[in-house]
Amino acid sequence: MTSPTVTLYDTTLRDGTQGTGIAFSVEDKLRVAEKLDAFGIDYIEGGFPGSNPKDVEFFREAKRRTWAHARIAAFGATRRGRVKVEEDAQVKGLLDAETPVVTIVGKTWPFQVVDVLGVTLEENLAMIADTVRYLKAHGREVIYDAEHFFDSYREDPEYSLQTLRAASDSGADLLVPCDTNGGSLPEFVEQATREVIAALGRPLGIHTHNDCGLGVANALAAVRAGALQVQGTINGYGERVGNCNLVTVIPNLQLKMDMPVVGQLGRLRELSLFVDELANVPHDIRAPYVGSAAFTHKGGQHVHAVQKSSRAYEHIDPGLVGNRQSIVVSDLSGQSNVLAKAEELGFQLEKGAPEVSEILREVKRLENEGYEFEAAEASLSLLIQKILQHHTPLWELREYHTTFRRSGCHSCNTCEATVKLSINDSDEYTVAEGDGPVNALDAALRKALRSQYPAIDDVVLNDYKVRIIGGQLGTAARTRVLIVSTDGHDTWGTVGVSDNIIEASWLALVDSFEYKLLRNR
Ligand SMILES: [Zn+2]
Repeated sequence: MTSPTVTLYDTTLRDGTQGTGIAFSVEDKLRVAEKLDAFGIDYIEGGFPGSNPKDVEFFREAKRRTWAHARIAAFGATRRGRVKVEEDAQVKGLLDAETPVVTIVGKTWPFQVVDVLGVTLEENLAMIADTVRYLKAHGREVIYDAEHFFDSYREDPEYSLQTLRAASDSGADLLVPCDTNGGSLPEFVEQATREVIAALGRPLGIHTHNDCGLGVANALAAVRAGALQVQGTINGYGERVGNCNLVTVIPNLQLKMDMPVVGQLGRLRELSLFVDELANVPHDIRAPYVGSAAFTHKGGQHVHAVQKSSRAYEHIDPGLVGNRQSIVVSDLSGQSNVLAKAEELGFQLEKGAPEVSEILREVKRLENEGYEFEAAEASLSLLIQKILQHHTPLWELREYHTTFRRSGCHSCNTCEATVKLSINDSDEYTVAEGDGPVNALDAALRKALRSQYPAIDDVVLNDYKVRIIGGQLGTAARTRVLIVSTDGHDTWGTVGVSDNIIEASWLALVDSFEYKLLRNR
């Protein structure tokens, strides 16, 4: 016997955009929808045509495209009180979206019906029934989201069930109780879901929010009780602390509960990063399954164990979700870390070889000075090359200096840098101006290198971060600079530490350029 399949309903483009700091252009929305479709999501809720002209445009464009797998849903609410459904503009907007699926939300909780909507409990039931019947008569698949269902069910189970019956008897294809305030616990969600399925004699979906950090747990609890659809968002975007995170739900269903929901689980991390990128949200390194720290090992003993058998400290094979194991070189590192990291960077070393101890000693010495290599693999790679004597210096620095000239008007302030180098026995002496000292040094160094190493122009500095590392009592604070660079194909991080911010920046800058030019060879 095969168990019924759980379907996935994504509301990143509607509920997700209600999250603080989340905004998508129409073009972004279409790209996200296409990615979700290719990944195997069953339903994609594109927006709320009644509240947002951008969403009307999305649906106009979505109608013209072909969707390989997903069904597109428009979201709205039941008709207003004391208005005929065919005269309700918001309901008309839902039909105008011309989507195969319409999802409507209706009120469940008596206090919300009376105090917030200002209608009687009977009128609310009629609003639900009329709207579902009307949309069904227009050939739509209708999903009914029961707002505040769990809070209401705790207080007044009888009326809560009546609202679902009103939708069910009018032909709704699926009923979805919502934990709108995100305040319920999994035991209750499971029990209520089981009771409602028994009372109505039909399966349900589940829509949860993460206010107690239980959005995913509550959705899984409902599935255990027989829910056949999970609604959520990519990366858990959503109002307040967010919605149920589909990126966590999907592997839990597929790998832990033996319920296959998508064919391309190996592209999960890619999907998560893609959506973050379009929403312009920094990637959460601690995101379950897909975060870059999810399979990262730092403690020396853990690294040793994980190298022997990944099961020691990994709950799944990271490749199943498109992630990978990563070894961090840190204060805690032993030889296993260095060997594993060196291998990851493309060096072959033997355990016990004198070079391994030397690398380890050097890493520890630099870490004591304030270096951190976790986001600066390019600097670490150069360090290993130097110790293995695989490194040929590309130039020799004679001197650099920077000046800052402050004048009467702010916009006339200038920074100037000069760089003196010798490259292959010829001397280069360059001067450049910039917005700040680092910018000026960057420009002067590029100028000096350009004739011999034209590839330097491919390097773009993407990010520049300065941290002040607290000094011990009686010692000066030091500065650590992290630079992230790219050449359009690869991205690499470098680090410099000094008492002086300009010198720290210079060290990180030089590593970045050297890393790129040496790799080009
Ligand atoms: Zn919601």
